[in-house]
Amino acid sequence: MAEHAFDFDLFVIGGGSGGVRAARLAALSGAKVGVAEEYRMGGTCVIRGCVPKKFMVYASTYGKDIRKAAGYGWTAKDVSYDHRTFSEAMHAEVDRLSGIYFRNLKNAGVEIFEERAEFVDAHTLRLKSSGKTVTADKILIAVGGRPWRPTEEEIPGIEHTITSNEVFHLETLPKHIVIGGGGYIAVEFAHVFAGLGVPTCLVYRGEEVLRGFDADVRTAVHEGLKDAGVRVVTGAVFSEIVKRDGEGLPYRINLSNGDHIECDVILAALGRRPNTDGLGSDAAGVKLDDNGAVVVDEWSKTNVPNIWAVGDVTDRVALTPVAIREGHAFAETEFYGKPWHFDHADIPTAVFSQPEVGTVGLTEAQARKAYGAVDIYKTSFRPMKNMLNGDMSRVLMKIIVRPSDEKVLGVHMVGEDAAEIIQAIGIAMKMGVTKPDFDRTCALHPSVAEELVTMRTKWVPEETG
Ligand code: NDP
Repeated sequence: MAEHAFDFDLFVIGGGSGGVRAARLAALSGAKVGVAEEYRMGGTCVIRGCVPKKFMVYASTYGKDIRKAAGYGWTAKDVSYDHRTFSEAMHAEVDRLSGIYFRNLKNAGVEIFEERAEFVDAHTLRLKSSGKTVTADKILIAVGGRPWRPTEEEIPGIEHTITSNEVFHLETLPKHIVIGGGGYIAVEFAHVFAGLGVPTCLVYRGEEVLRGFDADVRTAVHEGLKDAGVRVVTGAVFSEIVKRDGEGLPYRINLSNGDHIECDVILAALGRRPNTDGLGSDAAGVKLDDNGAVVVDEWSKTNVPNIWAVGDVTDRVALTPVAIREGHAFAETEFYGKPWHFDHADIPTAVFSQPEVGTVGLTEAQARKAYGAVDIYKTSFRPMKNMLNGDMSRVLMKIIVRPSDEKVLGVHMVGEDAAEIIQAIGIAMKMGVTKPDFDRTCALHPSVAEELVTMRTKWVPEETG
C-alpha cells in the first residue's frame, strides 16, 4: 500500500456500478478510498437505466396480461392505469437503492464527495463544487456514458427531443410518442409505451432493428414490434422537428423519406457516448479513442500507469454486470494481490422487448465468419400458455454449433422469460457446452425451455434444402 504520500490510495471518479464495486472492495482491503459522484449514487443502471426501465417494462405488461386472462376465464372490470401512482412507486424504489449504494460505501469506510471531479494531473483531481483538490496514488475512471443526440445544425429542432435520462420523469403518459433509433433503448421503450396504450411510432434508419444481433432474432423482434401495435418506419431519420402553435399535438417531425409525423413526445434513442467531456484526460495524459472512450488494456489499465478505467466509459461492452466484473477484477488485482481480468467472451444479454430477447455467444453470421460452415438448430413455436389466451406471438430458439467438435457457439431466444433462461445457458457456455450435452439433458416438461434440449434436426437453408 502507498505510504500515504497521497490523500488517498484509490480515488474513484463516478459512483455507478463499476466504480462502487471497485471502491467498496478496495476500502474493505484497508485502503483509503474516495469516490466522487456528481449526480446520484448508483449511476445509470440504478438511477436512469436498467432498474427504472425494468419497472416500466413490468408496468406495461399488466394491461395485456389482464386482457389475455379472459382466455383463462377471468373477467376484470374497470381496469385502468395511473401513471403518477406507478411513477411514485418506481422513484421511491430507485431512491431506496441509491441509498443502499451510498450506505454500503460509507460502511466500507469510503469517503464520498457528492460533486464532480476532474483531473489536474495524473495524481491530482479538482472537486468542482468545493474547489478542493485531492491527490491519489491510484485513480479509477468510472464515469459511464450519456445519451447522444445529433446537433441542432444536423437536425433543426433536436432540442425538442428527450432522451433516456428524461423518459423516467414524464408526469403524464404521452398522447403520441415517436422514438428515433433501433437499438436496445428504442426497442424496449417502444414496447413499454405501446403496452401502456400510447400510440407509438419507431423511426429507424436501417431495415430491421437491433443491428448486431442474430438475423433471426432481429426479424422476430421487428415483427414483434408491429404485432404490439408499434408503427415502425424504416429507412428514415428525422430531418427536422418543428414546434407547432395552436391546437393539436405540439410537434411535427419531418422525415428524410418525405413523410411527417405529429406527436407530443419524441424520444431520441440514438446511442450513448463515453462521458469524458471536461474530465481533464489531457491534463492526466490519458489516451481517448475517437469516440471519447478511455483506451484500456485487458487489465482495464490506461496508458498512464496509475490510472484505470472500467464500465461504459471504456466502450467495451456497455452492460452493468460487465462494469461490475471489471471493477471487481481491478480491485482484487490491485488491492488483494489476486490478479485476474474479466473475460468478455460469452456475455449473456437481454433486450426487454415484449416478448424479450435472451442471447449468449456468437450470432450465426459471426460464427460463419469465424469458422466457415456451422450447424444451426432452430425452432419457432407458439408456447402452450398462448393456446388459450389469444396471444399469437411465437417463441424463437436457435443454437449455433461448430461442426468439428460440436461446441455450442451461440444460443439465441426470443420469447417470454428468455432473459431468465439464457442466464442459465450462460453457465453452460462458460463450461464449454457441446450439442451432445444439450441432447443428453433430460427435458423438463411442460416448459418452454425444454425445447432447447429436444432440438435434433439440423436446420437446412431453403435454397439448398
Ligand atoms: P444502440 O447503440 O444499441 O442503438 C443506437 C441506435 O441508434 C441504432 O439503432 C443506430 O442505428 C441508431 N443511430 C445511431 N446514430 C444514428 C443517427 N445519426 N441517425 C439515426 N439513427 C442513428 O444504443 P442505445 O442507446 O439503444 O443503447 C446503448 C447501450 O446501452 C446498448 O448498446 C447497451 O449496451 C446498453 N443497454 C443495455 C440494455 C439491456 O441490457 N437490456 C438496455 C439499454 C441499453 P444502426 O443500427 O443503424 O447503427
